[in-house]
Amino acid sequence: MRKLAITGGGRCNLTNSFACVFSESDRQPDGTFPSAARAMDLTSVYPRGSRFMKKVFSRFDQNDCYRWFEDKGVQLVVQPDQCVFPRSQDAMQIVNVLERAMREGGVQVICGQKVSAIAPDLSVRFADGNVVHPDAVVLTSGGATANILEQCDLKLLPPVPSLFTFKIADDGLRSLMGTVVDDVTLGLAGTNFRSHGTLLLTDWGVSGPATLRLSSYAARWLASEQYRSDLLINWLNDSESGVRERLAIMSEGSRTVANSHPSELSDRLWRMLVERAGIRPDARWAELGSKGLSRLVNVLISDSYPIVGRARFKEEFVTCGGVSLDEVNPSRMECRNLPGLYFAGEVLDIDAVTGGFNLQAAWSTAYTAAKSIATL
Ligand SMILES: Cc1cc2nc3c(=O)[nH]c(=O)nc-3n(C[C@H](O)[C@H](O)[C@H](O)COP(=O)(O)OP(=O)(O)OC[C@H]3O[C@@H](n4cnc5c(N)ncnc54)[C@H](O)[C@@H]3O)c2cc1C
Repeated sequence: MRKLAITGGGRCNLTNSFACVFSESDRQPDGTFPSAARAMDLTSVYPRGSRFMKKVFSRFDQNDCYRWFEDKGVQLVVQPDQCVFPRSQDAMQIVNVLERAMREGGVQVICGQKVSAIAPDLSVRFADGNVVHPDAVVLTSGGATANILEQCDLKLLPPVPSLFTFKIADDGLRSLMGTVVDDVTLGLAGTNFRSHGTLLLTDWGVSGPATLRLSSYAARWLASEQYRSDLLINWLNDSESGVRERLAIMSEGSRTVANSHPSELSDRLWRMLVERAGIRPDARWAELGSKGLSRLVNVLISDSYPIVGRARFKEEFVTCGGVSLDEVNPSRMECRNLPGLYFAGEVLDIDAVTGGFNLQAAWSTAYTAAKSIATL
């Protein structure tokens, strides 16, 4: 429960409405958004485990989770970004509800006992040498702990961090720390990894939802590259022709390049980008010529910065890897080759982007495992 108490910055983003999130630009002429209830594509939120989660959700999904907590007396709120929090904005409420449910269910909780290994006969060895032989074992030990199963001859995928921010070696970018750009596209040079959303510039590089999403999609690839790559930024989330059109309109409205900037970009950021294109901010539009204009367009749609490492996102940290999903029956959460051994949560090779999807995976897999054991 210690980790649960600090989730969502102490507020616990316990699930998500799983509805599409639309931006202002999606608004239709009649003022509505297109089919706001449309379900989110699971592959876009679970980089690893989306197909498996689809099956698990047929037993216990976000709506079941919502009802489960409300039945236990927790009022919930759905934020405009579709993230679900307790109305109290207090993760301890969730901890208390779960502890009360355990007490009411007659669960005996023993703390401070480290499990060192689970054997193929399902005997569980503790670090103090004690060994128990339960009827069923559910392993819920979180990320980077699958080594407990080393004797079991199961496919285990090496743990790799997911959800992190990028250290960028560029003083110009770092000098703009605190700048937020709402709708960018990020990419990694030479790959198909892309993400959209809000970008936050920090004193070490870049953060914000778009960065976290990219780190999650590319977690394994970035680990194999030792967190060295080139970050591509499309500052306006637009095509080359779209950006050229916008610049043409902007150049009609002002004489110097510095005097007008796209509304999404701050004055300081615009000046830095103009300088990166080798243009003096006080240059007149008419002076740019086709080469200058092309350089500016290129910086706006395909700006490149060296990633020199990863940084943790305010302690928010998820691990990909763990028990391979090939080993697990999703309708029971039971090990295919070792009946009686169950898994739930982050010990599995399932992980998601931010937004309550990781806890939802833990609730859904845990519920399924518990139901299976209850019907033994
Ligand atoms: C700071 C932070 C904020 C987060 N915020 C959110 C959020 O708002 N929404 C969201 O969806 N996700 C969030 N996450 C991710 C989410 O917390 C995890 O995905 C989730 O906690 C996984 O649950 P779990 O039970 O599988 O593992 P954990 O919560 O990691 O629990 C594993 C437990 O197993 C115990 N354990 C490990 N090894 C052993 C052993 N050998 N013997 C005995 N016990 C052992 C650990 O002590 C721990 O108590 C956040 C993560 C962090 C770190």
